[in-house]
Amino acid sequence: MLSDWQLHKDYQENLKIKLLLYQKTQRSRLVSLDKSISKLYLLNLDTLLPIVKPLYPNFGRPTKNQQGIIRSLVLMLDLQEYSITNWAKKIKSDKLLFDICGFETQNAPSVASYYDFLTRLWLNSHKQHVERKLKQRQFHPKPKRKLKANQKLPNKRSGIVKRLVNRLIKAKLPRFSPEEILQKFLARCIVDYSLELGLLGNASSISVAFDGSPFYSGASHYGVKVCDCRIKGIYNCKCPRRYSDPDATWGWDSYRERWFFGDTLFNVTASDSPNDLPIYLKTVQASRHDSVTTVFALRDIFELYPNLKFKNFLADGAMDNYPTYELLKHYNMIPFIPIDSRTKAKFDYRHPSISCFDDKGRPICPGGIPYYNWG
Ligand SMILES: [Zn+2]
Repeated sequence: MLSDWQLHKDYQENLKIKLLLYQKTQRSRLVSLDKSISKLYLLNLDTLLPIVKPLYPNFGRPTKNQQGIIRSLVLMLDLQEYSITNWAKKIKSDKLLFDICGFETQNAPSVASYYDFLTRLWLNSHKQHVERKLKQRQFHPKPKRKLKANQKLPNKRSGIVKRLVNRLIKAKLPRFSPEEILQKFLARCIVDYSLELGLLGNASSISVAFDGSPFYSGASHYGVKVCDCRIKGIYNCKCPRRYSDPDATWGWDSYRERWFFGDTLFNVTASDSPNDLPIYLKTVQASRHDSVTTVFALRDIFELYPNLKFKNFLADGAMDNYPTYELLKHYNMIPFIPIDSRTKAKFDYRHPSISCFDDKGRPICPGGIPYYNWG
């Protein structure tokens, strides 16, 4: 079960007292950690309690330090350390870092506590994840075909966006988001606070930009060979293998014009203000078309932020399709999407009986009189 959740103002008070003591002994270090300390001082975890409470059983030994672990992970990334094992050791020996995290216990949590917490946040069976890692898969070499500059991979399954949009309008779109807790964490603890500070722009007409970016996997696309071909002297076999990142696939990085092995990090950004802050993040398969992810992302942002009114929708040519326009009409949003460069319709032709348009956008006849609808 989850033990008591410390109020944010209590954490702030405790931190202030501790920092006063450090000011005498480790002043220069305090100054160098200034930004990281401010980050944690402002990170209010009060609104996270109702989100994480259902993840813990109502009985058993109380789980401690959960807030401390969140702060510790934020601090870890802020100080550019990426190994949880090394970081847990560092926290154990560094009293200042330990105090900044605001742990409840006298001793720093073990490495296992960090992993246990992260497994809990990911709403997917951990056992299944391990099984997927051990399962052997077909080897897919890097695709040879190259695409042109700024060209994107076409949608593999035609008509899929239309089917998904129809399901969404009937509220029957399937739900699969193991990262849901992390999205709520971003929404309630960070985005809501940014909105209060006025960093997102006007809450009653927010403009949002949708786009996916390549997220390179750290794992090797060669996988781990488990066959005995090597002993037989065959080095370039294509036998099934194990992959340490079972979700990673080949995707096309249209900006760098090369294939990449990994996932797509799909972002929704509040684009009204100069800050361009992300309000929604989701990782999807690299081979998935952005127009498919957009349908899910639209549904999710409306559910995550019932207090915001989304007005303008900004996206690239990948989202230029009729079902997306219909969906935006359903949500009462205005699309700003460039027309696909491969489109065959002509826009530069002149109609023989229209000489020009007036300031209201009405066509003018050769006699200089505006046309009237059904006139
Ligand atoms: Zn083999």
